[in-house]
Formats: sequence, C-alpha cells, structure tokens
Amino acid sequence: MQNYKDNHTVFNHLEESFGSVDAKNNFTFKSPFALSPIEKTILQAIRKKTTLSKKEISEITGFSRTTVSNSVNSLIEKETILQAGLSTSSGGRPSTIYKLNDKKGLLLGVDIGATSLDLLGTTLSGKRLFRHSEHAVIGDGPDLILRRICDLLHDLLEIKNITDNILGIGIGVPGPVDFNSGMVVSPPIMPGWDQYPIIEFMSQEFPDTLVVVDNDVNIMAIGEHAIGKAVGIDNFIYVKIGTGIGAGIILNNQIFRGSEGCAGDIGHICVDKNGPICSCGNIGCLESLAGGNAISRIAEKATFEGKSSELLSEKLNKSTGTLSAKDVGQAAQEGDQFSIELIRECGFLIGDVLSSLVNFMNPQMIVLGGGVSNFGGFFLSTIRQTILNRSLPLATKNLEVVFSAIPNDVGVVGAINLVMDIVLTAAMDGHIKK
Ligand SMILES: [Zn+2]
Repeated sequence: MQNYKDNHTVFNHLEESFGSVDAKNNFTFKSPFALSPIEKTILQAIRKKTTLSKKEISEITGFSRTTVSNSVNSLIEKETILQAGLSTSSGGRPSTIYKLNDKKGLLLGVDIGATSLDLLGTTLSGKRLFRHSEHAVIGDGPDLILRRICDLLHDLLEIKNITDNILGIGIGVPGPVDFNSGMVVSPPIMPGWDQYPIIEFMSQEFPDTLVVVDNDVNIMAIGEHAIGKAVGIDNFIYVKIGTGIGAGIILNNQIFRGSEGCAGDIGHICVDKNGPICSCGNIGCLESLAGGNAISRIAEKATFEGKSSELLSEKLNKSTGTLSAKDVGQAAQEGDQFSIELIRECGFLIGDVLSSLVNFMNPQMIVLGGGVSNFGGFFLSTIRQTILNRSLPLATKNLEVVFSAIPNDVGVVGAINLVMDIVLTAAMDGHIKK
C-alpha cells in the first residue's frame, strides 16, 4: 500500500480530501453527501422535472410513500434539496414541492477535443452559469492547455461573480484514460500528455474539489444518456466521428470502460490490412480511412492529382494546400459527386465496424456525434443501411441509428453528469473502484 500511495499522487490528494485506499488498491471516495441509490434516484427525478411533490416522486419512481417521505427528509438534511413552495395543480389540497439546492455548490465540465476546448458551469440542478467554447490544439501539450483551462474558469467565475463552492470538475480528453489515476496512457493524438498528472495540476488550482478525468467519448455517451436522444435507453453505443473515431458504451444504464478504461476504441479496428499507417502505428485502422483526418488527406491528394472536382479545387486553401473534412462535407451538401462518394465510402467502412458491434452487443440505439457526423442524411442512411445489411435480423429488429440531439454540448454536459454522480454518491457503483 505504501508503494501504491507513493506512486499515485492523485489518490494521495483524494485520500486527504475525501477517502481512503484499501489493501487491494481500491480507492474509496467518500462523498460529502453519500446519497443512497434510492436517494440518488429521487434527486435525479426532481432534477429532471425541476420541482416535484412527494406524491409525484412516488408515481415517477415507483417507491412507496413512506420510502419517498423518509428519503426526502434525508435529502433535506443533507442539504441537497429544499422546499420550493406549494404545488398549484388543480384538485385536492396543495402539497409541498421540492427542488434541488442550488446554493450547495456548482459543477464544472471541461471537454478537451483535438482542436477545441469547451467549458460549462452549472448549479446542482443543471442551471447554466456559463458556457465557453474556443479553438485549441491538443498538441500544444498539457502545461499550456490546462493552464488555459484554469485561467478561463477563474475568469468566467469572476465575470459572473460566482463565489460558490465548486463541488467537482469533470474533464474529457481525446485519448485512452486510466480512470483510476486520471492519466492519459499512450495517446495517439495527444503528444506530451502521456502519464501527465492532470488531476494534480487541476487540484492545485481548485483545492478541495473532486476532479475526474475520462475519455471524451465516454463523457459524450453519459451526456447523451442524461439529456439527449438516449434518455431512458439502457444499452447503447455513442460513436464520435471527428478527427478520430471512438465509441462510448452504456451497458445496463452504466458506462462500460472495460478492465483498463479503454473499451470502445473502435477507431483502431483494422478494416484494411493493406491500408495506410495509422497515428497509432498500426496499418489500416478504421480511423486512418474514415476519420476526419483521413477524409481531409484523401480529398487533398485527389485534388492535387486533379482527380477530384472543380468545387474541391476551389475550396482548396491555396496558401496552405489543405482541405478540411468540413470542406468536403460542405461540397457534398452542394452536390459535389466526388465528395458524396468519398463520404459514402467512409459510411460503408464505419457501418461495417458498427455491424460487428451490433452483433456482439445487441444495443438498442447507436448515436452518431462529432464534427464529421454533420455530413447529413445520406451519411446517416449509408451507415444505417450497412448495419442493417450486415447484422443479424434479431439484433436490428428495434435498433435505432440516429444523430446526437445535442452535438455541441454533449461532452461538457456528460463531464458534469459524470462528476456529479461521484460527488453525490460514494464509489459504491464502481466509478473509481477498479
Ligand atoms: Zn490505429
């Protein structure tokens, strides 16, 4: 245990603030609220509807009136909910309604993309305090990017005159994350981030605040599950098609990270043994043939060789010699045949890999998000049709393939929901325990 502690400064910090590490190296986070599963369900129900009476809570959750009454009293004692007046519903005696205690503290969500940075601050009830988005290059390294994030958060809090306690910061990063330590491990597109102590850096700026780091696609799956298309869906896959390609998996209502935290890294499944070399060093990965960078590379090469189209030649940035995946998407929307074919080919490749996942996991829904997913209806229908053609009929009987309902906010919303879940409960559902 001593060695473990020496090697894991993140846990040392967390242990001092919140919990302990047992002999089996399981970290136990001690939530300041320690909600029971029933209390958490009730709190989430109120959060979703803004205010609820005990009767309404009982109807929504199925818990008995006594259970609801006891749990509501406990939630009030823990200062997580408050009385919010009387219901105005017609008929019968008005009853007391309850709302979340927004004075208890706030939650911050950070989504670090390959080329973007997104921040969101909310109260416990989900009320938005600020939202910020800017261009950022992940390759600039952790010192620069994390410094920028801290400066932005301090500035935004000051501008909005927010002095409330910060309960937690959830952070998503575009690479494989060891969820226990919060460290990125051998990330293909994050030079300088390997094993960087992100939590320690953030904790120096925001002491006594729980910081949780996860893979960006995992937080997107959590965000879509919380307020997007996948609300109420127990088993689904969120697929981010951006610079790279990755999947977040919700199994039985829980995010599934696998044994080391890198489940869902579908971008590096081989789809062509004679394909190009991928950023991970292997050959013919899905990402190297159908991700945003691949689309950009293929379109540039064809345009230089005069094999694409007039429209793409016009869109080619003459000074840098580049064409972005967005340019190709726009050209396709304008009816450019070369771009349409290129995007359709990517749709086939992605659909092929997804059909294997459908056969393997039998999800109820596949949600597509990320910049490249905005290519439009024909991209979605190509992927959907390929999945239908290649998967077993029973697996696709009720399968829905849809675009994300909240493509721009899904990451930051998920980051907040992830950290809120851990702040409110202990690690009883295995979020931090390995
Ligand atoms: Zn790869």
